[in-house]
Parts: sequence; structure tokens; C-alpha cells
Amino acid sequence: QVKEKGRNDYQFYTNSLDKRVSRKMKIETALPKALKNDEFYLVYQPLVNLNTGQTEGMEALIRWKAPFGEVQPNEFIPIAEETGLILDIGAWVMKQACMQNKVWQQKGILHAPISINVSARQMKEKGFSRLVKQTLVETGLSPTDLELEITETVMMNIGEASKVINQLKEEGIRISIDDFGTGYSSLNIIKDLTIDTLKIDQSFIKDLMENHKATNLMKDIISIGNHVADKIVAEGVELEDQRDFLIRNHCRIGQGFLFSKPMLPEDIEASQRKMNILAKRKY
Ligand code: C2E
Ligand code: MG
Ligand code: MG
Ligand code: MG
Repeated sequence: QVKEKGRNDYQFYTNSLDKRVSRKMKIETALPKALKNDEFYLVYQPLVNLNTGQTEGMEALIRWKAPFGEVQPNEFIPIAEETGLILDIGAWVMKQACMQNKVWQQKGILHAPISINVSARQMKEKGFSRLVKQTLVETGLSPTDLELEITETVMMNIGEASKVINQLKEEGIRISIDDFGTGYSSLNIIKDLTIDTLKIDQSFIKDLMENHKATNLMKDIISIGNHVADKIVAEGVELEDQRDFLIRNHCRIGQGFLFSKPMLPEDIEASQRKMNILAKRKY
């Protein structure tokens, strides 16, 4: 009987492993064709001023409609990094997002920086800052209207990171630390670099109110953030209680489902238009 059970477990294990391996292979096969086949698109999520409700920024997030269904970035970005495809994908994201922000500015819909996520592999690539500058020239977007979101781990993995970052900063491009608190050596990094935005990872907001330790930790992270960056953003705000906590504790900006899910450009336009009209009525 024990033997029987053991065999079933083994089968269960191999089946799920098989599934994962074949899914990964499917992704690896389809990914190189995705750009050419126009399968990527961007969705956008606002960064919201918690006191006024105003949009202070907009993050571009990639989506992939693969021939076998939607694949989430957490699943395909690591593969794109392994294979080096992230270089082309990242360049496409940047161009697309810059173009979109320019259009929104010209339509009077948005006057805030657009944020894009940048992988370690991209930062390491020679000529990255040249590519960024070139994209800005091509799209006519001002450097101050582009923000690069970089994780702490990215920074730790590249010796040259601070040089590249300083080059970009000299151009006026904004730098944001994403998922703050989840990498290692966080404090060392922010000590030596001038950072525009610090985004507190969503894991910190999850246990707020229920857990004293989490509450105090969040207060301290916000306070550290306020010393090193001019914008502190809490990621993953889903509840009004969380928003109120952030306001009470001097975190100015939030991003999360409470305000908006990531949306297609046309839906962003509609909601921004509505907000702009409401804002004008106040005066
Ligand atoms: P991230 O940059 O930290 O983005 C935040 C993620 O949290 C997004 O997931 C967003 O949809 C999700 N989110 C936003 N508000 C809430 C909320 O209130 N609750 C919860 N539970 N989640 C929320 P998404 O779009 O699946 O992206 C996941 C990660 O994939 C991103 O994390 C980023 O690291 C990476 N990624 C996305 N787009 C790109 C890209 O164009 N290039 C690169 N290199 N990485 C990307
Ligand atoms: Mg991000
Ligand atoms: Mg994040
Ligand atoms: Mg993340």
C-alpha cells in the first residue's frame, strides 16, 4: 500500500513537472516571434496622489497575447532575460510608452512622467543610455517625462550601474527604485545614489493593521523613503484603510487596484478625462 501511494505521488510529481517544462518550452518557442507578430501590448496604471487624487505618474506594464493564450510578465520576462530577448522587448516597451505619453500630453490628457520597468540585462548592455536618449529624441518626449523603474537587485548585479544611472540623471531622466525592501543591501544603494522615486513593495502593505510589527516597519520605511527620494509610492493599495494609513504616515502617493487596475490606453484616456473635468469643476 505504501508502495502504491509512493508511485502515485511520483506520477503526480512528474505530471506537474512535465506540464511546467512543456509550458516553458512553449513560451521559449513563441517568444522570439512575439515582437514581429505584434503580440505584445502595454497596459497602464496611474500613480495617484493620496490627498488630491491627482495622477502623478503612469506605469507601463507589458502584456503578451501568445497564440496559446495570455502569458503574464512574471512568467515570460525571466525567460526573455535568460535568452536576451529582453533587449528588443525592452526597447519596444520604451518606444511605445514614450510615444503614448507624448500623445497624451498633446491631447491634454496627462502631464506626468511615464514609468517603464528596466531589467538588469538592459542596464548592463553597452549603449543603454544612448538608446534611451535616442528614443526620447525620436518620440519628442522630454527627459523629465520618462522614469526608469529599477529593482535593487538590478543595482546590485551591475558594478557599472551607478555610472549609467548618473549618466541618465544628468540628462534629466528620472530614476525609480521598484519593489523597495525586497532586494538586499537596500540602504547602501539609496545612500549613494540620488533617487527620484521610491516604490515600497506591495508585500509590506499586505499585513498592515493586522500586524503591529508590519505597521511599525511600514512607518519606518516611509520615513527612510522621505529622506532619500522626493516621491514615495506605496504599491498594491487595495483598501481604503490602507490608503488612510498611508496618508496619516506621510506617504504621498499610492498605486493599486483601489484607484485603478492597469488598463488599455483608451480606458486610461476615458478615466483621465473624467478626472480632469472633475478637477476643473472644483475651481
Ligand atoms: P512591478 O513593476 O512591481 O509592477 C507591479 C505589479 O503589481 C503589476 O503586475 C501590477 O499589475 C500589479 N498590481 C498593481 N496594483 C496592484 C494591487 O493593488 N494588488 C495586486 N495584488 N497587484 C497589483 P504585472 O503587470 O503582472 O507585472 C509584474 C512584474 O513584471 C512587474 O512588477 C515588473 O517587474 C515586470 N514587468 C512588467 N512589465 C514589464 C516590462 O515592460 N519590462 C520589464 N523588464 N518588466 C516588466
Ligand atoms: Mg514597476
Ligand atoms: Mg513593484
Ligand atoms: Mg514586482
